[in-house]
Order: sequence, then C-alpha cells, then structure tokens
Amino acid sequence: MHSLKINQQPCSLSEIRSYLVHGYVYPLLENLITINNTYMKTMTCRELGGPCDQELSASSWNEMVEKMTKHVMENHPETAKEMEKMHNEDPQKWGREMKPKWDAAPEL
Ligand SMILES: [Zn+2]
Repeated sequence: MHSLKINQQPCSLSEIRSYLVHGYVYPLLENLITINNTYMKTMTCRELGGPCDQELSASSWNEMVEKMTKHVMENHPETAKEMEKMHNEDPQKWGREMKPKWDAAPEL
C-alpha cells in the first residue's frame, strides 16, 4: 500500500526526505506530494521496541500498531514472541510505553 506519491509515482518517506533536502520549495511540494489527505507520522521499529531501524508510517496510532505488529511478525519472530509474552502479562504495557512516543512524533 503506497499512500505517498511524488509526481504521481509511489515513493518512500526517505525519497520524500531526499526531495526535501535537495531544495524543493514548499509551494511546489504541495503539488508534488499527496499524503492521502491526512497527516502521517513515521516511527522506527526501534522506537517501538523492535530491533531494527525500519521506518513505519501511519496516519493513526491504531494503524501504526497494526503495521508494527505485521513488521515484527514478518521480520523479528523472536521480538514477536517477547511482545506476545508482554501482552499476555499486561495487555496495556506496550501501548502505555509507546503511545507517548507516537504523540510526540512530528506530523508530516
Ligand atoms: Zn524491525
């Protein structure tokens, strides 16, 4: 699922960042980049308690939880087990620790 586009082409957040870095001016950006008519936030797997620096983008906390869960299950089976164990001991723990980081992440 691609929600980010440059010139109608799907692109990753890091591509958008490099466009930004390479000096596109803001009014141009508004035409070039469509972000699914809502804001997105990006967090890394590591920020969410995982072991890698993969960036995950979502437009809501629930979507981020879904993406992180999918990412961990596909890429980090060991972490998935730990998270499942943590969830069984205290279902609220992960969200309690990670949600403030989501709230603090800048809107794109
Ligand atoms: Zn990861």
